[in-house]
Amino acid sequence: MIMKFRFLGGADTIGRMGMTIEGDNKTMLIEYGMSPTKPPEYPLMPPKIDHLLLTHCHLDHCGMVPAICGRDNCEVFTTPLSAEISEVMLYDSLKIADAEGYDIPYTVGDVEKTMDLVVPFTFKDTIELGRTDVTLHPAGHVPGATMFEFKRDNSTLYTGDLHTDNQKLVLGAKPVKCKNLIIEGTYGGRNHPPREDTIEEFIAKIDEVIDRGGTVIVPCFAVGRTQEIMIILKDLGYEMWVDGMGRSVTNLFLNYPEYLRDPRSMRSARRSFREVKNANMRKHASKGKIIVTTGGMLDGGPVQGYLRAFKDDPNSAVLLVGYQAEDTNGRLLLETGSVVLDGEMIKIQCEIKKYDFSAHAGHDELVEFARKCDPENIVIMHSETRELFLPDLQDYNVILPKLGEDFELDV
Ligand SMILES: [Zn+2]
Ligand SMILES: [Zn+2]
Repeated sequence: MIMKFRFLGGADTIGRMGMTIEGDNKTMLIEYGMSPTKPPEYPLMPPKIDHLLLTHCHLDHCGMVPAICGRDNCEVFTTPLSAEISEVMLYDSLKIADAEGYDIPYTVGDVEKTMDLVVPFTFKDTIELGRTDVTLHPAGHVPGATMFEFKRDNSTLYTGDLHTDNQKLVLGAKPVKCKNLIIEGTYGGRNHPPREDTIEEFIAKIDEVIDRGGTVIVPCFAVGRTQEIMIILKDLGYEMWVDGMGRSVTNLFLNYPEYLRDPRSMRSARRSFREVKNANMRKHASKGKIIVTTGGMLDGGPVQGYLRAFKDDPNSAVLLVGYQAEDTNGRLLLETGSVVLDGEMIKIQCEIKKYDFSAHAGHDELVEFARKCDPENIVIMHSETRELFLPDLQDYNVILPKLGEDFELDV
């Protein structure tokens, strides 16, 4: 059957994802997120939604779900782990919006309602929505992240954010045979260096900084990166501290061990780190050797206090391990060696380095994944460099839909 698809956001951008599928007099919404810009940017408003499907808990995918659930009372299908972490992220984004004076189009009540509307499913489960069956497959991005396979006359795979390589936290995603592949393309035109090389260089730098008497600050996203880095560092034997929202996310991960590649290594990583549980403990953490702390782009969270504490120490280092979006302190630090804290530009004398621990597949990995899915049609989303895939995907009908534009697929 021919169904109508439309991106409400996140087609040729990274952020504010949202895609509708219309058919059988019903409208499904796949993800509904926000861009964490200043002020935040939102997707276009959808018509009345009957079912909402969420791949994972990052705000660019889940950040606007309460606006729809609050309005339409629609059920939300996702994994229980993604639902629980989304809840934490949504309350946090309300708090940030309040602190920064941004308008956010939903309330605490809408978040509560959203959580009541969650119907938890796990990998290999199938949801029957009318004549369409939806099956969940691991996306290999962060724990709990799922791809959705829609089966009717044909099959359609929606990947959400995807990694095909094994990380410490989760194993890489496996291709799923389909006629229509809707795939993310964050890394169009770029590949990652081999992960083991990156880990080696990262640990060598940490040893060097500690040998010369410095402290290593590792700013991390709360979901995924904090835990990946903790597992990588767990056996180093240094005095290590973890601070910020990443701590509570680690505990959530451990409540759902079935979504982790190796729950034992996560548990032992948690034991290797001391936890900063209150502001007073930050003084102790500052005397440690390694501090893993949110936020990953230096725009909020306890990392800002550590930057202040270590700003004049050239022996110490700030090791960035995540994507640094434009207009963030992280990007500013990389480009100018300074950050803005409480409205004041501050020079950071520490050594600054960036390492690629991405949770997204690189260009070649995406192309290989797409080929193994053996589709006829490939839709590329979540990418600012989608065109760079075209030379490698000439054997397929590639669709690069624009924002708000309808396209049809035989599903
Ligand atoms: Zn993500
Ligand atoms: Zn994303």
